[in-house]
Amino acid sequence: MSEVTRTDVIVIGGGIMGAATAFFLRKRGIAVALIERGLIGQQASGTNFGNVRRQGRYLKQLPLANRSREIWGRLQELLGEDVEFLPSGHLRLAYNDEMTAKIEDYTGQARHYGLDLEIISGNALRDRFPFVGPEVRAGSYSPHDGHANPRLAAPAFGRAAKRIGAAVFENTEIVVVEKAGDEFRVEAADGRLLYAPQLLISAGAWGNRLSTQFGEPVPLTAHGPQMAVTEPLPYAILPVIGVASGIPHEVVYLRQVKRGNIVFGGGGRGPASADTSRANVLPENTLSQFTQISRLVPALNRLNIIRVWSGVESYLPDDIPIMGPSAKVAGLHYAFGFCGHGFQLGPGVGDVMAELIATGKTETPIEPFAISRFRNTKDVALPS
Ligand SMILES: Cc1cc2nc3c(=O)[nH]c(=O)nc-3n(C[C@H](O)[C@H](O)[C@H](O)COP(=O)(O)OP(=O)(O)OC[C@H]3O[C@@H](n4cnc5c(N)ncnc54)[C@H](O)[C@@H]3O)c2cc1C
Repeated sequence: MSEVTRTDVIVIGGGIMGAATAFFLRKRGIAVALIERGLIGQQASGTNFGNVRRQGRYLKQLPLANRSREIWGRLQELLGEDVEFLPSGHLRLAYNDEMTAKIEDYTGQARHYGLDLEIISGNALRDRFPFVGPEVRAGSYSPHDGHANPRLAAPAFGRAAKRIGAAVFENTEIVVVEKAGDEFRVEAADGRLLYAPQLLISAGAWGNRLSTQFGEPVPLTAHGPQMAVTEPLPYAILPVIGVASGIPHEVVYLRQVKRGNIVFGGGGRGPASADTSRANVLPENTLSQFTQISRLVPALNRLNIIRVWSGVESYLPDDIPIMGPSAKVAGLHYAFGFCGHGFQLGPGVGDVMAELIATGKTETPIEPFAISRFRNTKDVALPS
């Protein structure tokens, strides 16, 4: 006989989105089952760069990012674990006047969304951040952003959710999802069955396979952002640094962890596949990134790279996620396709999805992320 679980909410996918939602649902006293094919936080949520950055985002995403940032500041107290969140600032740098004008313009607009940024130029920039290279013209500084350890964050949410009563099933792949009457029936590859009146699909790059079973396919594609880490050197670079540029290979970012290593990425994505759950590093991307980070911070140019990696991330053509209720099925919700910038949003997405599932509405505007925007898309990729 297959094992049967009945609960209030089933969450499929234990990345940071699913694990945080399960945690915040339990905080609201709602029964929840969190189901993960592998281990919690094993995919994009555990392999990312660790940027907890708001500046540079799509402006209408800032209310969600602000809500998330507030939670990042309380995570240790909420989860009872340190996820190495360091609010040490974020610096977005420009090499020319055109990009400087763009970041100045963004600074003006971001203020309306509650994000205060400071423009710093020329010598003033180098006085304050002496490691910045001579080619950099100006930068915008976001003092309350920073970075965290992606290996720790989603598993910490999963463990905390479990401690406060979530049923957590790892190594359990869901293969069939359907609505039967007022309930969702969810079937795992090992025969386990789960039933609940509400369902959240937070399955990252695999979300489209499940949304398609409800007649809501989306044009989701998988790519692998390219990461690397160097040998350690004395801790000196506090802010996360990123480049604003219209030239793809110039767009790199780096952060130094307190142990001294420099983590960097950007500048081109590698091949990734939802079928194999693998993402490959292209060595030419790593070499190009290294050239670019040495341009940004010349003192790094003789470091040894000790490890490279990538991860399977899901993208939509408009570069914003799918988040909110289904357009077709009552009780069904989505949070997937975070397009390379979901780590910062994770705690906020969890809080908002729990609010939405519990109350039917949310204080944070998420309308731009509705799945209905793909309703008439002709070129929706069929799930593989
Ligand atoms: C290399 C890299 C660097 C990045 N850098 C940053 C960054 O610096 N800052 C930032 O904000 N964002 C960054 N991102 C993006 C960020 O990591 C993701 O947007 C975010 O982690 C997505 O979380 P998720 O929970 O939606 O997806 P995932 O972490 O992919 O989790 C989805 C989970 O669903 C599970 N699943 C799928 N199908 C099923 C099924 N049928 N049954 C059961 N379980 C299933 C999967 O196994 C997976 O664990 C980066 C991403 C990558 C890959």
